[in-house]
Amino acid sequence: MKTKVSCKQFYQLISWILALMIFTVLATEQRFSEFEQRVFNVVMAPQLSAEERWQELVQLKNEPESELPGNKALLLMQQCRLAYRHNFGDQAGILQQSAALQQLAGYQQGAAAYVKCQQYEATALDHTERIFERGYQAYHALNNTDVTLMHMWLAYDYANEALEAGYTDEGIEAINRSLNIAQYNQLPEWEGESLGVLAVLQSVLKLYDEALETSSQALAIITSPLIERNLLLNRGYILTQAKKFDDAIALYQTLLQSTEGQDRRLFLMAGANMSGIYNEQNKLDENLALTEKLVAEAELEGDDYLWSHAAMARAYALLEAGDKDAARSLFSRSKVWFENNDVLMPLSESLVNWAHLLYRKGLYQDAYDALLESKLLKTQTDEARRTQDALLSNAVLATEQQRRTLLLVQQAHERDRALLTQKQLEQRLWLIVIIATIMLSAAIFYAYYRLRHAHSLLEEKNQQLDYESNHDPLTKVFNRRYFNQFMRSKLVASNDALLLLMDIDFFKKVNDTYGHHAGDQVLQIVSKRLASRLRNGDCIVRWGGEEFLLYIDRPADINNCQILIQRLLAEVEGSPIKLDDAELKVTVSIGFAYVQLTTQAELEQQLMQIDSFLYQAKQQGRNRAVGLFSGDTKAQLPTVITSSPAPA
Ligand code: GH3
Ligand code: MG
Ligand code: MG
Repeated sequence: MKTKVSCKQFYQLISWILALMIFTVLATEQRFSEFEQRVFNVVMAPQLSAEERWQELVQLKNEPESELPGNKALLLMQQCRLAYRHNFGDQAGILQQSAALQQLAGYQQGAAAYVKCQQYEATALDHTERIFERGYQAYHALNNTDVTLMHMWLAYDYANEALEAGYTDEGIEAINRSLNIAQYNQLPEWEGESLGVLAVLQSVLKLYDEALETSSQALAIITSPLIERNLLLNRGYILTQAKKFDDAIALYQTLLQSTEGQDRRLFLMAGANMSGIYNEQNKLDENLALTEKLVAEAELEGDDYLWSHAAMARAYALLEAGDKDAARSLFSRSKVWFENNDVLMPLSESLVNWAHLLYRKGLYQDAYDALLESKLLKTQTDEARRTQDALLSNAVLATEQQRRTLLLVQQAHERDRALLTQKQLEQRLWLIVIIATIMLSAAIFYAYYRLRHAHSLLEEKNQQLDYESNHDPLTKVFNRRYFNQFMRSKLVASNDALLLLMDIDFFKKVNDTYGHHAGDQVLQIVSKRLASRLRNGDCIVRWGGEEFLLYIDRPADINNCQILIQRLLAEVEGSPIKLDDAELKVTVSIGFAYVQLTTQAELEQQLMQIDSFLYQAKQQGRNRAVGLFSGDTKAQLPTVITSSPAPA
């Protein structure tokens, strides 16, 4: 089987690994830390009261993780929310802390939390015109110093605010962010609610099929009955917008059944919506029955908001049925809440519808008044809208400016970092250069040392070779090769010299009797004894097996020569040679000549001559020297010298 991985497969593998790594990085960026998860659990726990939640947040503030700026901002934002919404705690103190956190950190860190806290304050103080502006700023101040939970929270809030303000595109972007984070962190309820908001945003864009699909997805995910009912309410609104009235009625009917006696608020909201559809479809009897129930329930609930909606729906039904006085009185009572709470735009739209109905019923003066009032409100709301838009433009500008400042700060920061990195790199480079120089020097020094060592070894070896090529290995006296060289200079100088050839007597017997080793020892000792009698400029050569040739340079005179020869004989013979287990008496025989040589031929002639003298010395009884002092012209016969001087 082929197991080799091809180039293409390899690149595929690499791209898969890269994709996985990018995915992991992105996924972990969206993932809550353990601390965020705990904050989320505290804030969302349904069983906790606001005070208990506050206590839990204080507990979390004591944990070391709360010191991380992102976590600190998150806790402050949540505390601020509780403090303003439930009106307890040190609200101003928290606001101040968030401002300080933002200032302390230098740039954007904690900015979103601070502005969000300002929004909670504006909500508590009913500064309606500020609420959307702060929401916008908070969402746009989010940056990578904020934790994921902060992103999710603010994105969800802003999506709802943008939906209400008609900023549909921004709303969709924000809700998608909230949705993504909820999915990554497996928060089905949050995901479901985000999908619910997305569905409404889609229906605003008239993408009803998509909106209903999204709404179905949301309903499939969530488990909480409360959220489910809210989602159903949303779905009813979308169906109404899509003019799918039958579906809407069917849905509202189920919703009314499930909420009746269970959740009066939702019952009332669903009922008010349903009444709108009955109105649209002229289902007067059903509408009368429904609105009667709604008003009764709203009175039980004691909520002005819900009551005014129910009353308005009832007023329409009553007018349609011809009960003009009751209708008019109910309508004007229900207007109060809208006016008091500055919910002017819906009121102005309601007034137009109301005017149409009055007109149809022949109440022209009332219709005219209602239209006039509506017109007035419209001018008022347009004015408010303009103020709101101006505020928002300022906010957008401020956010843009803040963003630019941040960019500049970040750029400066990055420049500083780059400079620092460059400096560090330079320092590192220098260090590398220094280390490299030291190492190179060490290497050169070492190589030089090795070279010198090798050189001296070579020299030593050469010297040794030189020595070996000129000396006899056993006796360490010169060899014939050296002698030839030595004689070349002597022949040029043509000095007087005494040439002696000597041979150890009966040497064979030594070998035979004491062994070859003993013979070697004798050769060494004899050569040493002979060499000890020589001066500088003289030369001793191992001529053959047990033969030595001596060259005595410029002897003083013949007498001196004689004395030297006697001493050489005596030196060898004088003391017995001590071997390991014996003592020997050794003697030598010598052939000699007194010469003055100038050519090689003369040398060879003389060597033959002294060889024959040596032979004569052996013949005459050994331990003696036979030769000629050529300067001695009177003597025709060779001179014989023995170790003990002959009697005069
Ligand atoms: P003569 O007095 O006539 O010179 O008798 P000799 O025994 O010395 O003469 P011969 O020339 O017959 O013997 C020389 C011997 O020297 C023969 C040889 O074995 C021995 N010989 C030559 N070179 C060496 C050597 O390097 N070491 C030893 N141990 N023996 C050597
Ligand atoms: Mg011999
Ligand atoms: Mg011999």
